[in-house]
Amino acid sequence: MTVRYSAPGRVNLIGEHTDYNLGFALPIALPQRTSVVFDSDTSDVLEVSSALGDGPVRVPLATKPGEVADWAGYVAGVVWALRCAGHAVPGGTMSITSDVEVGSGLSSSAALECAVLGALLTSAGIELDRIEQARIAQRAENEYVGAPTGLLDQLASLFGEPGQAMLIDFRDVTVQSVPFAPESSGTALLLIDSRARHAHAGGEYAARRASCERAAAALGVASLREVSTASALQAVKDPVDARRARHIVTENQRVLECVAAMAASDFTAAGALWTASHESMRDDFEITTPHLDLIAASAVQAGAFGARMTGGGFGGCVIALVPEERVDDVTDAVLRAVRDAGYQEPLVTRTHAGGGAGLGDSA
Ligand code: ADP
Ligand code: MG
Repeated sequence: MTVRYSAPGRVNLIGEHTDYNLGFALPIALPQRTSVVFDSDTSDVLEVSSALGDGPVRVPLATKPGEVADWAGYVAGVVWALRCAGHAVPGGTMSITSDVEVGSGLSSSAALECAVLGALLTSAGIELDRIEQARIAQRAENEYVGAPTGLLDQLASLFGEPGQAMLIDFRDVTVQSVPFAPESSGTALLLIDSRARHAHAGGEYAARRASCERAAAALGVASLREVSTASALQAVKDPVDARRARHIVTENQRVLECVAAMAASDFTAAGALWTASHESMRDDFEITTPHLDLIAASAVQAGAFGARMTGGGFGGCVIALVPEERVDDVTDAVLRAVRDAGYQEPLVTRTHAGGGAGLGDSA
């Protein structure tokens, strides 16, 4: 039996590094997707190839962490995590194609995991709740690949809907649809890929997580989600930890305010929150770069309602909410600023909320 299954990349509208602090985030699924064609057989091996990687790579169904490296590790990790959760999946031949940019912070990794997971589950005739699917995909990334990431990427790839953002509450692990179609109010969502890759950010990510944990411990709370105002952070004596925590506490507030602004189709207010989020990531959480700061600032200066880096940081993409009549000006201004500063030319595209993981190649 041939199964075709696909899953999208995602862009986070607001709520950065809040997932592991049990806070809020507001992603959309992207129109770009990773597709899997899977032909199952009775063997105990998965032969997997990707248009982006070398291959085919042999993944024994009984694989263990440490065995399969590089890109195929994400596939092996899904097989392993499924089996750990007690689900028997078949072997066979799997080929992967994708138009999700890799390493740009658009979560090609979650798109890959969720597409592979969906193909395996469909082939085995297993129905699994999407929250549980997200946890299995996350476990593959955390424990097999060894990337300590939160649950945001997988939830966004699995729960995306056209014209909807998702308000995720990581404390209760719930996902709520929030209408997001700015184009119907004359506002464009621009995705600006800096083309600076976020490689080697793992140590910084771990350091941010540790800072947040220390701040929560200093306050005697289980997570920074329990802190609702930045003034409560005075008890965090370490100045760096206090700034990191201030980003998380204020970012959670901005997510909720952004949901309210979007509900009122107030993209001026939503944009201002995006700009404030960028400044918080720049000054308090220190995960932006001068390159990304320049892109975000020049977009706002040229008439964007707001702009912010999206994703884990240290590279990747900036998103901007732009009145339709200013899209050309903003694009030109960003390209000019980046060129004058001697950085690589960014890729500027319009994007929108697409559908989540599912059968077939498209949403
Ligand atoms: P991001 O998720 O932001 O794109 P990551 O570093 O988390 O960046 O994941 C990128 C990695 O995921 C790639 O280096 C590769 O190993 C793997 N990957 C993603 N998509 C594919 C694909 N279509 N084919 C092969 N490997 C992929
Ligand atoms: Mg990733």
